[in-house]
Amino acid sequence: VMCCCWATIAASESMKYKDPKQPINVRIKDLLNRMTLEEKIGQMTQIERSVASADVMQKYFIGSILSGGGSVPAKEASPKTWIDMVNGFQKGSLATRLGIPMIYGIDAVHGNNNVYKATIFPHNIGLGVTRDPELIKKIGAATALEVRATGINYAFAPCIAVCRDPRWGRCYESYSEDPAIVRKMTELIPGLQGDIPANGRKGVPFVGGKEKVAACAKHFVGDGGTTKGINENNTVITPHGLFSIHMPAYYDSVLKGVATVMISYSSVNGVGMHGDHQLVTTFLKNTVKFRGFVISDWQGIDRLTDPPHANYTLSILRSVEAGLDMIMVPYNYTEFIDGLSYLVKNKFIPMSRIDDAVKRILRVKFVMGLFENPLADRTMVKHLGSHKHRELAREAVRKSLVLLKNGKTAHKPLLPLPKKSIKILVSGTHADDIGNQCGGWTIEWHGQSGNITVGTTILSAIKNTVDPSTEVVYQENPTREFLKSNKFSYAIVVTGEYPYSETVGDNLNLTIPEPGPTTITNVCGAVKCVVVLISGRPVVIEPYVSKMDALVAAWLPGSEGQGVADVLYGDYGFTGKLARTWFKTVDQLPMNVGDTHYDPLYPFGFGITTEPVKSS
Ligand code: BGC
Repeated sequence: VMCCCWATIAASESMKYKDPKQPINVRIKDLLNRMTLEEKIGQMTQIERSVASADVMQKYFIGSILSGGGSVPAKEASPKTWIDMVNGFQKGSLATRLGIPMIYGIDAVHGNNNVYKATIFPHNIGLGVTRDPELIKKIGAATALEVRATGINYAFAPCIAVCRDPRWGRCYESYSEDPAIVRKMTELIPGLQGDIPANGRKGVPFVGGKEKVAACAKHFVGDGGTTKGINENNTVITPHGLFSIHMPAYYDSVLKGVATVMISYSSVNGVGMHGDHQLVTTFLKNTVKFRGFVISDWQGIDRLTDPPHANYTLSILRSVEAGLDMIMVPYNYTEFIDGLSYLVKNKFIPMSRIDDAVKRILRVKFVMGLFENPLADRTMVKHLGSHKHRELAREAVRKSLVLLKNGKTAHKPLLPLPKKSIKILVSGTHADDIGNQCGGWTIEWHGQSGNITVGTTILSAIKNTVDPSTEVVYQENPTREFLKSNKFSYAIVVTGEYPYSETVGDNLNLTIPEPGPTTITNVCGAVKCVVVLISGRPVVIEPYVSKMDALVAAWLPGSEGQGVADVLYGDYGFTGKLARTWFKTVDQLPMNVGDTHYDPLYPFGFGITTEPVKSS
């Protein structure tokens, strides 16, 4: 009865997977049944855009592409150029036998930050300060539009790490040391992906159409808990610690329909996460019931051996067995494809595991409507760096600032500053530098100082804000003679850390790099001063605080420096409260709210508030 020729099957049976009216489960089943092993393995493979082409997509049935940090067509490429590139790759995927569209991922971690002229939002450390999930959701929605403006449909965000030690180079990607704040901030997910419809099922991935992107909760799990904050290292922790600090935000993310989860380079109690079957499969997939796909980190599986890539076949075996569904290979994809296909053909990996992986990937693609709308929509271009998004980023900047000191005595506050003065001084390496105020993951992987993208520097923001009669003098690092020979009403010193990302940002001493301390000492020694500190984390500030009249933690505010001036000059009040503990000396670290020996310079939750100045 089951016997007939292929031609008859094709004629008698509709291509159910292509029919949007069919339930997703039916479409998945139909498509999976048609797929060869090669086609399935292709879906599990994510390659880097620099090795991608329409031909490669077609020949290897590649399921996904990524732009690794700063891997862009050309630094100042227009959104249109991006769209052409993405659509070009997509056409390769669509030309395959089954025409399964690819998904394209990018690190849009504070806006669509790889792209010139995109709105750059404050990094997560500043957003945690706001404790404002509605705002974070709006940022997610704006980011989704700016990512779609370049034809891309998948963001490797949010980072829901709970950074427990600011020596970690990725601390600024974490909203807080407090798991409760990080949980709230998972509102970025419905922002990026859209709200699960009323009839939708909690826990099932959801992405609401052409204006939304698939999100990625990362890095599973314990990335923010490593010893001394050493990146990609080992987190030594009790089960209670793991499940009460690092795990909770993953429950929230899954309930909010997160499409994907990225695995951490780090280990938990010596077990590398990329090979951890218990946490990935038994816990995340079977217990929490995550139904989206699990993706590796960049060459993450290679590092299951020491040295990395020493036995790649073993790395593939262990990670796929652990429950990883898509592997960010990202260059040596033929080696990956051959290795996985060998392992399946020789029954080291059962076909049921491959099918589970492919079903999850297909589910996300169906949910996204990719089969119906695989190609990027050019009308989205208008959203990139739009006025509306810049205003939203400016609001986020205002709410992310924390006023740590205001006046040498409480009776004599310096802030808000008067808009009308005779002559004021602005100084510091970070006053007129878009790159410095954006930090890492901006245009380049590590970010870069200088005029790297479009935005408002804090200096220009100050000039925009003061009364036209006020003379604004800018001297990056003024000498004592200069300070003596001028009479300033007050000075604003903007200084701090230079951009970094990931391991290069690991820092065991956390001192402010020179000339920051010299500028603070010289300027604050000569004139009434407010220091605006730009940093990805609390740094050693105690030795300088007594010299300052006021101190503002501005974190990494992004492209809209105007938000800083809005609050310095009282158009808005200071509302931010620390979402991290500010230590005195590094030998106190790690030190987090709730610890028994808690002796911070500024405790978690601290922040002086001010009222906005009523305009006359
Ligand atoms: C980072 C991830 C990032 C990935 C892709 C890795 O180095 O750990 O956070 O998503 O690169 O660029």
